[in-house]
Amino acid sequence: MSTYRTHNPSTGRTVAEYDGLADHEVDNVLSRAVEGFHSWNRWSPARRAEVLAAIADEFQARTDELARAISEEMGKPLAQAVGEVKLAASIYRWYAEHGPALLASEELDVSGARENAITVEPVGPLVGVMPWNYPYYQVARFAAPNLMAGNTVILKHASICAKSSALIEQLQRAAGLPENTFLNVYASSDQVAQMVADPRVHGVSLTGSERAGAAVAEVAGKNLTKSVLELGGSDPLIVLDSDNLSELVDELGRARLSNSGQACNSPKRMFVPEDLYDDFVAQLTDLYRSIEVGPASDESTEMGPLSSEDARDGVVDQVRTAVEQGAKLRIGGDPIDRPGAYMEPTVLTDITDEMDVYHDEVFGPVAMVYKYTDLDEALRIANDTRFGLSGSVWGTDADRAAQVADRIDAGMVYVNEHGTTRAGLPFGGVKASGYGRELGRWGMAEFVNTKLRRVS
Ligand code: NAP
Repeated sequence: MSTYRTHNPSTGRTVAEYDGLADHEVDNVLSRAVEGFHSWNRWSPARRAEVLAAIADEFQARTDELARAISEEMGKPLAQAVGEVKLAASIYRWYAEHGPALLASEELDVSGARENAITVEPVGPLVGVMPWNYPYYQVARFAAPNLMAGNTVILKHASICAKSSALIEQLQRAAGLPENTFLNVYASSDQVAQMVADPRVHGVSLTGSERAGAAVAEVAGKNLTKSVLELGGSDPLIVLDSDNLSELVDELGRARLSNSGQACNSPKRMFVPEDLYDDFVAQLTDLYRSIEVGPASDESTEMGPLSSEDARDGVVDQVRTAVEQGAKLRIGGDPIDRPGAYMEPTVLTDITDEMDVYHDEVFGPVAMVYKYTDLDEALRIANDTRFGLSGSVWGTDADRAAQVADRIDAGMVYVNEHGTTRAGLPFGGVKASGYGRELGRWGMAEFVNTKLRRVS
């Protein structure tokens, strides 16, 4: 049986432990998800939308409690946690407002028959495997469109998110979601594989590492179960020019440290032209020296701990290896000597393709700055990665920046912002960053039966 544990990374103390799902309970969970589906999919879209709107209200009404739970279990500073709760609410609200129209049937203009109609039907129970870095937002991206569509959801959240995942289940029930429509389970990887292989499950969506994605997609593939994967990223950010470098460095430097650098679409690699490079690195180093690192619950904290001591040690090791391989450490790189999972904000430069960090994702507060003299060469390196989640281009001429952004191989590109997520915009990547899309109308098209009815 797997163990789920709330371990506060701000203090280094374990707060609670939870029993995992017993093997003999897996079958019961699947039967309940099927039972829930048979009822929920018969509700009209308008009625389902009312429940989704009530869930959004519930998120908003319980913002403080929900924010504190994730601050405690994964170390997100409170202000950022509050922002995440509001973002999750906005996703449920967006699907409540737009869902019924997205599910409406459509008449196609094709000759030779009296009718060519497309109807959109739910497919059945789905499994969602979710990560700890945005505990509410990640679940909302998957659950909101699929509940709206009439599917039922079995959630296997990260094992450090036992409390927030239970809160999500509870608040959805309080908002009127019927029994067996959303089931939160403390499952092990083997139990996830068993569920995905079961014919009662009609799809699986995983957000997390390439390793976990490949493991789940393998089982899904063997069983012809549809999958959506949202995996890692090593997003490039290309600066073209700037009319206010100090403001730019402040914005980009802080963006990289948001959530202690633990975002799939964080701007992990910054490409800066030669004429700005020395000042950019000097100002970024000064900024990182000034950042207040502290417990997630302190209002003065600008950057909290990483999600766990293990996660922190992994990032520290990546930085040490980079330096051994010849990268220049401008600041940081060390754990902070106090209980908890703290690490110094870090700047690395002089990275070459012979170093591991050139190729790998660094999931922590580490800005990697590359100097370029030739934009084509910057783009070549920006795209010389197995990842393709998102990327951004920054400059005073937005049209030119947009043309450069189009040359980044990624699922999402931005100009003069990085990684903005909104309920109505698609989210997802290419290459090893995964496949499929969440959010917007694209997120509701993944796990539905787009059914043709042609009447002669
Ligand atoms: P992770 O270790 O892959 O965990 C993600 C989820 O997968 C957790 O619920 C985990 O459960 C589960 N899991 C792990 N191995 C599994 C297996 N073999 N079978 C079934 N489930 C399995 O990833 P993480 O360390 O939490 O998150 C970091 C990674 O996620 C980074 O690469 C990051 O870029 C990526 N990410 C991507 C996006 C995106 O939208 N593209 C968003 C956020 C994060 P346990 O906790 O029980 O191990």
